[in-house]
Amino acid sequence: MNHSDNIETKLIHGGISLDEHTGAVNVPVYLTSTFKQDGLGIRREGWEYARTGNPTRAALESLIADLDGGTGGFAFASGMAAINAVLSLLREGDRVLISSNVYGGTYRILDKVWKNFGLSYTIADTGDLNHFESAISPDARAVLIESPANPLLTVTDIQAVADIAHRHGLLVIVDNTFMTPYLQKPLELGADIVVYSATKYLGGHSDVIAGLVVARNNELCEQLAFIQNATGGTLGPFDSFLLQRGIKTLSVRLDRHVSNAEKMVSHLLHHPAVRKIYYPGLQNDPGFEVNRKQAKNGGAMISFELNPERYDVRLFFKSLRLIMLAESLGGVESLVCHPASMTHASIPKDVREKVGITDGLIRLSIGIELIDDLINDIDQAIDSSEIKK
Ligand SMILES: *Cc1c(COP(=O)(O)O)cnc(C)c1O
Repeated sequence: MNHSDNIETKLIHGGISLDEHTGAVNVPVYLTSTFKQDGLGIRREGWEYARTGNPTRAALESLIADLDGGTGGFAFASGMAAINAVLSLLREGDRVLISSNVYGGTYRILDKVWKNFGLSYTIADTGDLNHFESAISPDARAVLIESPANPLLTVTDIQAVADIAHRHGLLVIVDNTFMTPYLQKPLELGADIVVYSATKYLGGHSDVIAGLVVARNNELCEQLAFIQNATGGTLGPFDSFLLQRGIKTLSVRLDRHVSNAEKMVSHLLHHPAVRKIYYPGLQNDPGFEVNRKQAKNGGAMISFELNPERYDVRLFFKSLRLIMLAESLGGVESLVCHPASMTHASIPKDVREKVGITDGLIRLSIGIELIDDLINDIDQAIDSSEIKK
């Protein structure tokens, strides 16, 4: 459909966004596993079997491709299923470079699953371009990065990494879960493939597990379509509908998420209990300049550290009344997590501390509640967690 190039409008009208048969303003949920054929080899509009293609899923896939400016999109049953499909593009003997702070599940699937099939990986510091280039060995075929990355919101220069990687013939994969196409478009920065855990901001309501992939060119799309159909980890029609519904409000949700995050950061900056704040939208954050160059703003994830000698983090988490302690992020409700004992618990303490994931570190996914309520909740929880001498 012909429409605006502005993403706020595309979120609503992009891809296939209505039902051509009835005029329904939403794409129906096609709960069907197969499609009647009108004769041998005569398929209505090409539909055949719903693992291969379902109209509701296809609408979502065309929407995400449109939003990211890619040639095609692919929807999977989870972010990990999407990452697994992308890794399936590689072969035995190939090597993947990953940044030191990729999502734990990405590290796990490489270390515990793909390693058994002869795919190796190297952890590289993609924040240091010389270090990154020197880590590219002759068997390297791909690089997978996140920016900003969990949990210290470290920024990687996507364009610079893509330029170096392409000079060495590597496929550039960006996990853009934390930013979404509304805040950052990796394909425009030179990436070949973008992956999402759509479970997070794209879905936005903590009610669906889903993954999306967008690829730059026809060749990659043909390979991904083949892998998606052959391995079968596809997203069901109802979850596809929920994601389209979530994506329509992405811009208004994220505007509010980000403005809340900026207000929370300003508040925490002046809080005597807070020792350190990690937020790429903060002017003195080491990632500020690069992030400003490649993204609309600093996003809505914040990490901060309470002084562990004076505050008991366990008590802090227990004392929160509104903000919930939970895995995940990107939903309308605010969530906190404790990386040292949750997402990064498998990393030995001394290694963790060295990279900055201390026991006092708190990661906050700011929701869209009224910011005053969120600030009050954080303040009262900090007060309650002060260690009485
Ligand atoms: C959550 C997450 C994933 C995994 O996605 P699931 O939908 O949970 O399978 C991958 N990458 C990032 C950055 C994530 O936050």
